[in-house]
Amino acid sequence: MNNRMNFSGGPGALPASVLQQTREAIAALPETGISVLGMSHRSDWFRSVLDEAEQNLRSLLNIPDNYRVLFLQGGSSLQFSMLPMNFLRGHAVGADYLVTGYWSAKAPIEAQLEGRTHVVWDGRANGFKRLPEPAEPPFTPGAAYLHYVSNETVEGLEFAHIPGRVDVPLVCDMSSNLLGGPLDVSCYAMIYAHAQKNLGPSGVTLVIMRDDFAAQAATGLPTVLDYRTHVQYHSNYNTPPVFAIYVLMLVTRWLRDDIGGLQAMAALNRLKSEQVYAALDAHPDIYLPHAEAASRSRMNVVFSLRHGVSDADFAAAARQAGIHGLEGHRSLGGWRASLYNAIALDEAQDLADWLRQFALSQAQS
Ligand SMILES: *Cc1c(COP(=O)(O)O)cnc(C)c1O
Repeated sequence: MNNRMNFSGGPGALPASVLQQTREAIAALPETGISVLGMSHRSDWFRSVLDEAEQNLRSLLNIPDNYRVLFLQGGSSLQFSMLPMNFLRGHAVGADYLVTGYWSAKAPIEAQLEGRTHVVWDGRANGFKRLPEPAEPPFTPGAAYLHYVSNETVEGLEFAHIPGRVDVPLVCDMSSNLLGGPLDVSCYAMIYAHAQKNLGPSGVTLVIMRDDFAAQAATGLPTVLDYRTHVQYHSNYNTPPVFAIYVLMLVTRWLRDDIGGLQAMAALNRLKSEQVYAALDAHPDIYLPHAEAASRSRMNVVFSLRHGVSDADFAAAARQAGIHGLEGHRSLGGWRASLYNAIALDEAQDLADWLRQFALSQAQS
């Protein structure tokens, strides 16, 4: 294996240059002569890694000064619980949730344990094939917050607009598309994303939170589950995931220096996904894309094979071609090509070519 053509849904591919630096850092960091796996989280070296990761994220995303950048653990699943613990507990009106796919459906289940939870739109009945129009959901005035998922990783649906009411704090799980392109952070009270789809290895979850929102958190929470602890201790209250944060920092350098920022990243991601969707659309007798056209994700291209086309043949042909990670999520089945930032344009082109070849081979047989 050479790490090419890895379309895994998560943990996802990482850039070759980052993997190379990581290999060296595991042997010994150039700066310290010590393996990254044996560096103290109280060292000056780690302080500078945390600082650089935060600074790079601030400049890539244009994060305003009144936002904190936190590196937490527990994955995005812990955020499904931590968010309502901090901001829904004791709230009279309750919180709004958009249920647009597998991941966003999990969040209100945890919120219900903490307070009133309003699912204001649910796409389950149509099989999670499209996202709501901007004016569709009846958002609740005075809600504690609105929670949604900007990119549904399993179904391959991505919001093209920012939903909600301007007077209700907006909270978004961006686990599978953060850093895929520019973003207006100032529209959000809180953004979170675990690293393992688009930012780095598993083990760290990035939280970007506005100061005035953090200040509204409930009191009496367990110390590590209170966002204010992590604000106060600059993400170093207890031992943070040093290795994962280090690699995430390398990924932010790669975005800045090798890619040239998030405008350039977005342009590449658009081209990559256009190539793959075009190959699927060229053979409607073979491939059935999951998402309606207007809701298609740039990050996760989800499809199934038409009746009569063999999944086993498709899997064998992919393996033969050195293509890895195309299996769909276990909840949905079918196939998924995840085109995270680290997938290069030529890899997406090669995948698209291969999809066309496979379709032609079916037509002939
Ligand atoms: C993968 C995923 C999750 C689950 O994250 P964990 O870190 O495994 O808890 C949550 N939300 C979205 C949008 C995801 O893609």
